[in-house]
Amino acid sequence: MANVIPEVTFNEGVKEFLGQSFCNEKAVSAVGEEKCQEKLSDILRSLSYPPSYTVLRINTLHHSKQDVFHQLTQVLVQQYKSKDRLPPTVDYHASLDDTLVISSPTDHSKRHEVCPEANKEVIVDRQCGLAVLRGADVYAPGIMAATQDIIKGDKVSVFVDIDSQCRKGLIHRFKGNKAFIGNGCAAMSRKDLFVGNSSPRGMGVHMTEPIFDCPSLNGVLVDRLFLQNLPSIVVSHVLNPQPGGRLLDMCAAPGGKTTHLATLMKDQGVVIALDKSLSKINKIKQNAKRMGLSCIQTFVYDSTKACCMQASCNSDAPPFSPESFDYILLDAPCSGLGQRPQMANQLQLSEVKSYPAYQRQFFSTAVKLLRPGGYLVYSTCTITLGENEEIVSWALNDYPQLQLCEQVPHLGGIGLLGTMLQPDQLCKLQRFHGVSPMISCANGHSDNDTIGFFVAKFVKQFPS
Ligand code: SAM
Repeated sequence: MANVIPEVTFNEGVKEFLGQSFCNEKAVSAVGEEKCQEKLSDILRSLSYPPSYTVLRINTLHHSKQDVFHQLTQVLVQQYKSKDRLPPTVDYHASLDDTLVISSPTDHSKRHEVCPEANKEVIVDRQCGLAVLRGADVYAPGIMAATQDIIKGDKVSVFVDIDSQCRKGLIHRFKGNKAFIGNGCAAMSRKDLFVGNSSPRGMGVHMTEPIFDCPSLNGVLVDRLFLQNLPSIVVSHVLNPQPGGRLLDMCAAPGGKTTHLATLMKDQGVVIALDKSLSKINKIKQNAKRMGLSCIQTFVYDSTKACCMQASCNSDAPPFSPESFDYILLDAPCSGLGQRPQMANQLQLSEVKSYPAYQRQFFSTAVKLLRPGGYLVYSTCTITLGENEEIVSWALNDYPQLQLCEQVPHLGGIGLLGTMLQPDQLCKLQRFHGVSPMISCANGHSDNDTIGFFVAKFVKQFPS
């Protein structure tokens, strides 16, 4: 019976392509083949697990850190009382003054101590499985199959269908590739799930013993807290926009960074948020509203075309006049290979390889829109060399007016070897490698136990 989350699988060639990022000629000649391979294996293994701590950003514009800290602690005490488990601890992040960290009460390496206990099985799809690994209960739409005689209140063991092979409503025990993700209590019977009503909603299994003990934060203190990955919070601090400035967030939805940037600007100035998708733009509007921010203006727009070269253009709506922004965030669409947890990555190699050309289009527009003396931050949630260091190397070569800046804070590692970038330049880049402490570090939270992420900061110099 499957009892361990397997290492993430990739389509043909993608793993090898990642190998070329980490074990390229320069890296191998600097630290040796063995070290490079070791690092790559650590990263690949960590991708199938969630980070061992949860990070939340405080809405410091409208709420005090101390109040939110106490309110969150109370919520968790109540939540865990009903689960009959010890609550996790809440801490202020050591370097980020608007960030709270919730550490799991049980060390992730103890996951093997939770075993399938029930004879009755529930099979969930991958998306649902990933949500459970990050602290959610099982909701009915994610359930693919359930043992025949399950009734409400039964103890059940929950498995994820790794290869998406389970037929909806399967009656027999699923024999395909599955991984155990915890035990729970059925909140619906098999009949509720599959007979009559073809698309039931609501909680299907209340997870009482998930293999990773992450708190469930859906709907918790929504006007005070924003659930974000640590590197995403770092990005906005690195850009460091000042109140009264004019900022463009080129790929903004769902608005985690947009709302943070507006908060850092104390809701003073202009924050323009672009995204190509209308439904996603609506998400930014909802998030701005719940955080009580009014300086954010949203537009459904293709950012690669956001710079206008005609005299008739202005800076109120896209396309904007050149050099009309003090700050630009380009949190670019990317292959997302740093996301955690993942199980079976569906990306084709051709798609992974297609991103750098697209990212260069956004970047060229960003350079045109930035005023001299202004700052540009480029970030991705992926780990390939081509979408990260190679974009920086290309940008510095094609746009001599750009200069790399030191990053504050710098909580991740530095850039990868393998491009024309020099060591002093690599030190200015911030790479979060997504390595879980249970694999390579001591217990406890470390700022490298995050999703894989990359950040570069540039200043546009005045013409000499
Ligand atoms: N910055 C966001 C945040 O922190 O919440 C996440 C951005 S996500 C990495 C990339 C976004 O780029 C997606 O929402 C996608 O819809 C958007 N996007 C992709 N192509 C675009 C384009 N040509 N113009 C504008 N937005 C685009």
